Amino acid sequence: MNAPLTDAQGNEVLKQHLIDPEICIRCYTCEATCPIQAIEHDDNNVVVDYSKCNLCLDCIPVCPTGSIDEWRFVETPYSLEDQYSWMEMPEQAQISAGSSTTGDDGALDDPIASLLAEAHKGAGGKAKAPATATKATVNMYNLGNPVEAVVQGNYRLTDDGADVDVRHIVLDFQGKPFPVLEGQSVGIIAPGMNAEGNPHLPRLYSVSSPRDGERPGFHNVSLTVKREDDGVCSNYLCDLTTGDKVRVTGPFGATFLLPTDPDARLLMICTGTGSAPMRAFTMARQRTVGDKNGGMVMFFGARTPDSLPYFGPLNKVPPSLLSKHLVFSRMPGQDKEYVQDRMLVEQDQVAEILQDPKTHVYICGLKGMEDGVERAFTSIAESFGQQWLNLRDMMRDEGRYHVETY
Ligand code: NAP
Repeated sequence: MNAPLTDAQGNEVLKQHLIDPEICIRCYTCEATCPIQAIEHDDNNVVVDYSKCNLCLDCIPVCPTGSIDEWRFVETPYSLEDQYSWMEMPEQAQISAGSSTTGDDGALDDPIASLLAEAHKGAGGKAKAPATATKATVNMYNLGNPVEAVVQGNYRLTDDGADVDVRHIVLDFQGKPFPVLEGQSVGIIAPGMNAEGNPHLPRLYSVSSPRDGERPGFHNVSLTVKREDDGVCSNYLCDLTTGDKVRVTGPFGATFLLPTDPDARLLMICTGTGSAPMRAFTMARQRTVGDKNGGMVMFFGARTPDSLPYFGPLNKVPPSLLSKHLVFSRMPGQDKEYVQDRMLVEQDQVAEILQDPKTHVYICGLKGMEDGVERAFTSIAESFGQQWLNLRDMMRDEGRYHVETY
């Protein structure tokens, strides 16, 4: 049970832990992590049971979107039924004069806020969408109401000889609405049952095509999928053939989005299939803004050139549109190199783009890359006299710092 707090007048108010349904991507990681089963879901939303939650905060760091980090001061807690019906978070209601009504944990002067601030150190805090991003449609289709798409193509992106099988899969929604933005994810429901005899939950994949489609105006959606040993959904997707039908949920995600400002600049850092949204961003900018010197810079890490998704097409993107740094970790006879190593080598270019208030940073791929990238940013920020954490927090608050790592 949540501990009651008091406001400035000594009145009892309750602090309730909630999940933002607009940002939640329904990965159910929080539910699996909660040690006391205080989190549950239906076909619509993932919700927190106020009567069970003990504010242990175990669910906070595992959430890939920050949607788990929502709090409201209430006199009567929202019920599970209330939360299941929400399409978006309710505003903080006015409760008592003098009480704190902000959901920003940094501004709250109570022990829970300090605990939260501590829990957020690694993740860097709550994500925000770019100020000029198009408003994303989320959760249009869900577990109980998926949309059926038809496979238009399934192409192997990695060389036949490469030790990884990464696929480019194109889905067509047959005229049904599926309004998706670059940077959003979709859920795929693999057929069949899991080991417990329950239907599989959706697995999330980023869209790798622009909002108007793999082909402009066709509104089809591409995914970038790596075959994983024993991966139920990845093997299902990688084995699909043209004409197969697939059950899709989503779209999900309302912050890892592209600014529409044509003068915005993008610094994209990715590993492996984390390149999916970066492909969507690059194609979208190419279609809407065109070549713009210095507009986009990419650091992209893979084991070898033949295992780097989109190696051929990427090399054809003109340097005036995209400055590419393709980094390889397992080249025979060469030292291992990661994206963060190359960022340090290219420190002047990174420093220049980082200092531009029009720059948005996107990091996508392996969770493990975050520490190394943060260290590289720390050192680069120092080179122009800035503290990285201050700069990062400012960028994040302005909707210019975006991380999606698994
Ligand atoms: P991967 O092939 O395992 O790795 C890609 C590269 O990253 C390799 O060169 C690897 O080097 C390197 N790497 C490993 N540890 C690193 C570290 N600590 N710092 C920097 N680089 C590191 O990648 P993957 O299997 O494609 O995984 C991509 C990740 O992106 C997954 O976690 C996936 O969930 C996520 N993601 C996927 C999508 C999608 O739509 N499919 C979207 C968003 C995110 P070594 O192996 O040589 O160490």
